[in-house]
Amino acid sequence: MEVTAKYELIGLMAYPIRHSLSPKMQNAALEKLGIPMCYMAFEVDQQAFPDAIRGLKALRMRGSGVSMPNKQLAVEFMDELDPAAKLAGAINTIVNDNGHLTGYNTDGTGHLMGIRETGFDVKGKTMVLVGAGGAATAIGAQAAVEGFREIKLFNRRDSFWEGAEVFARRVNDATDCKVTVCDLDDRKLFGDSIAGADVLTNATKVGMRPCEDMSIITDTSMLRPDLLVTECVYNPHITRFLRQAAEAGCRTVDGYQMLLWQGATQFKLWTGQDFPIDHVREVMGFK
Ligand code: NAD
Repeated sequence: MEVTAKYELIGLMAYPIRHSLSPKMQNAALEKLGIPMCYMAFEVDQQAFPDAIRGLKALRMRGSGVSMPNKQLAVEFMDELDPAAKLAGAINTIVNDNGHLTGYNTDGTGHLMGIRETGFDVKGKTMVLVGAGGAATAIGAQAAVEGFREIKLFNRRDSFWEGAEVFARRVNDATDCKVTVCDLDDRKLFGDSIAGADVLTNATKVGMRPCEDMSIITDTSMLRPDLLVTECVYNPHITRFLRQAAEAGCRTVDGYQMLLWQGATQFKLWTGQDFPIDHVREVMGFK
């Protein structure tokens, strides 16, 4: 790649960040389409974040990805927020239009794109969404905006519980989707809710390395073939939860799809062009 004076910069502001797959993904796509932009990861913690935003504006960067610990803090620095990002209360993408910053949350759009890619029509459907952290609230917000009728948000009573209740109130006030927060330790309610749902989504860290032996499902009779099962965890690629779902005959969407589609949405926002998804799948080894 020959970087000339015409190149624009897209950043990624997070800490830690050296493990991120996004620079490889975005640069593969930019290079493939010959777009004169570069994507670089910067170690930016919460203390440095305000200066980093000033820098983004001063350097007239096209925008930036945002990851932990800055996803919620970044909201305060936006001039405008996408509706689902507003509901989630967190962003992972900044678009800079001549100093006017708009915040988006493409984790949610990415997950929903993975769901729609299977041919699933989301309108009027019910989701059991397990988790109440960054991924879960982004998905819940987008699902509500896109027309899901009901979301049962299951989480254990940990430090995320209070945030889950605040999130549910926000979505219930702003959309026609009804969100109920439920205790993941109530296994009867969990089973009954899955029985009435169209989609079951894992948006917790359960099943992620080094805890790859864990699954949110302990009783596989809760799974049935007409349930769409979706996963956020992508390390490992096929989690125990996805294996259980496949064995029960469910259609599944793995964490690679969310990763790819959230990046595809960011790419479109920054460049205006469609993400060369097959090429990126190949480069990343996401088969
Ligand atoms: P987070 O720290 O914000 O939230 C963690 C969630 O996991 C909380 O709901 C917490 O209650 C729950 N949890 C943790 N340990 C648990 C346990 N033992 N039992 C039950 N619940 C437990 O994390 P996040 O940013 O929301 O990420 C969640 C997962 O989604 C991670 O594996 C992350 O890598 C993945 N993720 C994937 C993508 C993608 O593009 N595929 C994007 C974002 C996040």
